[in-house]
Amino acid sequence: MPHITESSAQSVLREVFGYEQFRGPQQAIIDHVVAGGDALVLMPTGGGKSLCYQVPAIVRQRAGLGITVVVSPLIALMHDQVGALHESGVDAAFLNSTLSYDEASEVERRLLRGEITLLYAAPERVTTPRFLSQLDSLHERGMLSLFAIDEAHCVSQWGHDFRPEYRALTVLHERYAGVPRMALTATADATTRADIVERLQLQEAGQFVSSFDRPNIRYTIVEKKDVTQQLLRFIENEHTTPQGHDAGVVYCQSRKRVEELAQTLCENGLNALPYHAGLDAGVRQHHQDRFLREDGIIMCATIAFGMGIDKPDVRFVAHVDMPKNIEGYYQETGRAGRDGAAANAWMAYGLQDVVNQRRMIDESPASEEFKQVMVGKLDALLGLAEAIDCRRVRLLSYFGQHSEACGNCDNCLTPPAVWDGTDAARKLLSTIYRVQQASGISFGAGHIMDILRGKKTDKVTQYGHEQISTFGIGAEFSEQQLRGVLRQLIAIGALAVDAQAFNTLQLTDAARAVLRGEVPIQLRESTAAAPRSRRTRSSTGSGSPAKAAIALEGGALRRFEALKAWRTEVAREHNLPAYVIFHDATLAAIAERFPATPEDLQGISGIGARKLEAYGAEVLRVCQL
Ligand code: ADP
Ligand code: ZN
Repeated sequence: MPHITESSAQSVLREVFGYEQFRGPQQAIIDHVVAGGDALVLMPTGGGKSLCYQVPAIVRQRAGLGITVVVSPLIALMHDQVGALHESGVDAAFLNSTLSYDEASEVERRLLRGEITLLYAAPERVTTPRFLSQLDSLHERGMLSLFAIDEAHCVSQWGHDFRPEYRALTVLHERYAGVPRMALTATADATTRADIVERLQLQEAGQFVSSFDRPNIRYTIVEKKDVTQQLLRFIENEHTTPQGHDAGVVYCQSRKRVEELAQTLCENGLNALPYHAGLDAGVRQHHQDRFLREDGIIMCATIAFGMGIDKPDVRFVAHVDMPKNIEGYYQETGRAGRDGAAANAWMAYGLQDVVNQRRMIDESPASEEFKQVMVGKLDALLGLAEAIDCRRVRLLSYFGQHSEACGNCDNCLTPPAVWDGTDAARKLLSTIYRVQQASGISFGAGHIMDILRGKKTDKVTQYGHEQISTFGIGAEFSEQQLRGVLRQLIAIGALAVDAQAFNTLQLTDAARAVLRGEVPIQLRESTAAAPRSRRTRSSTGSGSPAKAAIALEGGALRRFEALKAWRTEVAREHNLPAYVIFHDATLAAIAERFPATPEDLQGISGIGARKLEAYGAEVLRVCQL
């Protein structure tokens, strides 16, 4: 094997990407793969997975070992990914259905001549006889260096993005046994991991599991009241400046909700776009492009949006409906703050969310065993939402990691008041029991709460429920409080929701222990009922997350704005997102240094050799304006 020095990877990092140091486990992974080992890489979103295969690809190509094939399901993003590599002076190309016949033929010619360092292709393309015979030809000539399988969790049917085409990738191992393979994913759970190892035959691979913590993300979970207003207030307080608002993603449960919310945000002067699988593919692509290319777009989306979106400066991810489980929540919130600067993950949840999710599980045609797993996962998420201690400790412990209270989540920053809901829980359960006894049918949450709180509604009178012995004995509880208790009772399985019968509530066996007072119910004081948040940018102590990302003043701020305007032009000419040219942080560092000569630009993070050569003079000129 040709000689590869220890420092090769380090010098590629510096020279090509303009970065000083590897992050976290990148070094270990890269050394392992450069040396020809197989690897399974688990890293949270934003952890820096791309470099883990890009650096080995470059080092190995320079050592004469040939090309790296990157398998990725994200056709819509390949153009930008390859464009970003070109900007750094790396020979990269993609093969997918967006290319014309002639364009594809040209890529194939270059591939066979060994002129490409990284080739991106979708799994269905990789496993065609035509492509495999091209790989055979490269392999015979010792020019097939590495396979990188991105979003590797797509191989697992337990994951949330199962893609059958990934199963066919076993051919890589069988056909090119000597060629190292690495699988990368941000999905952590053990079942998925085991599935990846088995399906992609990575039993011998080095496993690299990073810490899943994303310390720059601040977690906040609030109870729903008027969620649209709550969201607007959050964006206004935390993510709006006189210059405009930050880029963010708002996740909703349904397509209809996506459409409505995008419209409402626009009516409130925000720059919002809808994205869901029901939209025409062209519209979807257009909205995604705008989100990536323009500053300060808020994407209202279903979970159809986001995989592979590598925009580094998404400053917030909001959930206006509760996701299905913690894996989904963590993956989605992980899309905030990839650049390492402060970012927010904000979620609102309510009783209706719990009821809806339980119903979807109950109504799904899946096996009982599978439903049980889903219920368990929903409960874990609800536990996180209702938690009165550090959110990050809970999140990380879900992924099997121990940590200390973080100081950067809502509960750490403002410890919530707690109340004992055990008595309220018993009263609710006995009301449900008595009503069922008296009327022979079950009722929904609203009616039960009315009885307990002693409200003589038409329905109460109609059924004579003011005669029930618990009528009015819970008058001291607010509806908000009782909803919280009901959520807990559903979460712990003491109550079941009957979706077939208008979401009526039924006692389960587990209710007995609660009725006997054996299960303490601890609840956080309702946050939604609290007075309007008066948090502003200046009063948040450490500064608002968004502002803290870039803090410049005077001449530096002026230069930063000028550099951004220049970058917009370049990005438009190259048909690429602005961050592919330079990250905000790089422009801010330039603006602050106020460089006069090309030497002054040396060592600024994000300026590699190619970018220095291509843009150095222009950057200096813009700074002098
Ligand atoms: P992932 O694919 O794991 O979600 P990316 O590969 O997109 O993450 O990396 C996230 C961001 O971090 C990118 O903007 C990338 O340029 C940056 N990055 C990665 N590694 C480093 C490093 N060693 N030094 C500085 N920035 C890095
Ligand atoms: Zn915390």
